[in-house]
Amino acid sequence: MEKVLLVRYTEIHLKGLNRPYFERALADNMKRALRGLEPKIEREHGRIYVRGISEENFPEAQERLTRVFGIHSLSPASAVDKDWETVVQAAAELMEKELESRPGKATFKVLARRSDKHYFMNSDEINRELGGRMLERFPQLSVDVHKPEIKLSVEIRDMAYVYCSEIPGANGMPTGTAGKASLLISGGIDSPVAGYMMAKRGLTLSAVHFYSYPYTSERARDKVVELTRLVSRYAGEIRLHLVPFTDIQMTIYEKCPEKETTILMRRLMMRIAETIAREEGAQALITGESLGQVASQTLEALAVTNDAVSMPVFRPLIGFDKDEIMDVARRIGTYETSILPYEDCCTVFVPKHPVTRPKLDELRASEAAVDFTEMIEKALENTEVMVIK
Ligand code: ATP
Ligand code: MG
Repeated sequence: MEKVLLVRYTEIHLKGLNRPYFERALADNMKRALRGLEPKIEREHGRIYVRGISEENFPEAQERLTRVFGIHSLSPASAVDKDWETVVQAAAELMEKELESRPGKATFKVLARRSDKHYFMNSDEINRELGGRMLERFPQLSVDVHKPEIKLSVEIRDMAYVYCSEIPGANGMPTGTAGKASLLISGGIDSPVAGYMMAKRGLTLSAVHFYSYPYTSERARDKVVELTRLVSRYAGEIRLHLVPFTDIQMTIYEKCPEKETTILMRRLMMRIAETIAREEGAQALITGESLGQVASQTLEALAVTNDAVSMPVFRPLIGFDKDEIMDVARRIGTYETSILPYEDCCTVFVPKHPVTRPKLDELRASEAAVDFTEMIEKALENTEVMVIK
């Protein structure tokens, strides 16, 4: 008997002539996610099979694949010879394990699929035969075809595949199939979630973080590196750009109207991020903004921020409540790191009365009153790049 992982995928089904491209991308991403575990990946008729994983690496392989976008679900399966008694034996072994974890009575149903049309039984016959054999062997079982507790699946193909669990995948589209975008990442809860959501739609990510040493600490920076690493568990490799922002930030505080400082800072971040994105071959920016969450995220403020750049800006959290964002953060494992109490450069100097309805021409004028060109160049020159895997 051989253990294999049977992988089902999602929207790739819809992609018509491009389908092989998406399938190949998914298989490549799976291979990357399973690095070091020596997988053999085979594509076949709307499924992907992962073979060659050793028994002890099996749980690890499963866990890693639940973070690969494009996978709808996976089932650890026993692949055996199609000889009927061998199939029954494999099914019985699986059922035995399954019943160990649920003492007492249990209901079940057999779900057979046969793509080998020459097999000596059709699906209905397999269902009946195998169901009967299980009932004989395990007296605690009874059949429930509508709501069974255990679904025992058998697929007759090149071999027979037998399984009874289906683990949900991360869904979405394979990372890299939708192009590349740059995520503005802070140390907060929102931006890592925003990055996760856009990677889920198939984007490769790069990331840009602004820090204001010595007002923000080394540890605040480490936190952002760690958050990027957590996002990369789903999104794959991310090039993180760390941009020194102190000079620009101090200049804004010294020379611009206090109530406009946050918005001006946001505009300058966007401008710099756009320049980095272009150099990286990215075609869009991503932020963790959500409508009305803070003064700099009112409709007027977002319009003024947007005006600083010409690339599309994706804000996947725009219609999310904070609670909903926090739920996703917990699910993807970024929450615990995000709530560590290190300062972000946005929180260092917060104006007492920020504008909530900024006027575009006024903000443009405030920004134009200071020549930021050299400061921006210097920030770009001193930007550090880390490759996060
Ligand atoms: P988050 O939880 O992601 O920090 P937030 O609700 O605190 O978001 P703001 O601080 O107003 O919101 O920032 C809005 C967005 O601007 C962030 O989601 C992020 O995309 C970007 N941003 C904020 N601070 C930084 C920073 N220091 N470096 C890079 N991007 C930043
Ligand atoms: Mg923030």
